[in-house]
Amino acid sequence: MALDDIDLTHLRRCVELAREALDDGDEPFGSLLVDGAGTLRFEDRNRVKGGDHTRHPELEIARWAPAHLPPEERAAATVYTSGEHCPMCAAAHAWVGLGRIVYAVSSAQLTAWRTEWGAPASPVLALPVGGVAPGLSVDGPAPELEAEMRELHRRRATPS
Ligand SMILES: [Zn+2]
Repeated sequence: MALDDIDLTHLRRCVELAREALDDGDEPFGSLLVDGAGTLRFEDRNRVKGGDHTRHPELEIARWAPAHLPPEERAAATVYTSGEHCPMCAAAHAWVGLGRIVYAVSSAQLTAWRTEWGAPASPVLALPVGGVAPGLSVDGPAPELEAEMRELHRRRATPS
């Protein structure tokens, strides 16, 4: 499915959350949970600066969803995120039965940028969501947001 204006509006909020995270000393990632009626139900951003590197917003969404939404509402929901789910978050998303994923930049893009900048490799393979949870509907990237997200990640990877 191609990205439409509604998708881009939600992704722009994810980018705002990513910027907020970066400005607060965390990694630039932000995510939203939007229900099947199009209503924003939950949002969060990366919170790893305390040392717990599992504090990804997509994992927070996967924890929030089963406590607040029945299975059919989880399946109808869409998770928007500034960066494609990592394998940990993709697995959690699939285990709790959430629906479509829409991301602004892919894990492959981020990995290529970090390699270009000489940043340390991630301890977890940058598998695409489809390599972890092949049944999920996944859309992205959004070229409209690439430059802005690349700059946020560059600030994190090459602090001056
Ligand atoms: Zn993750």
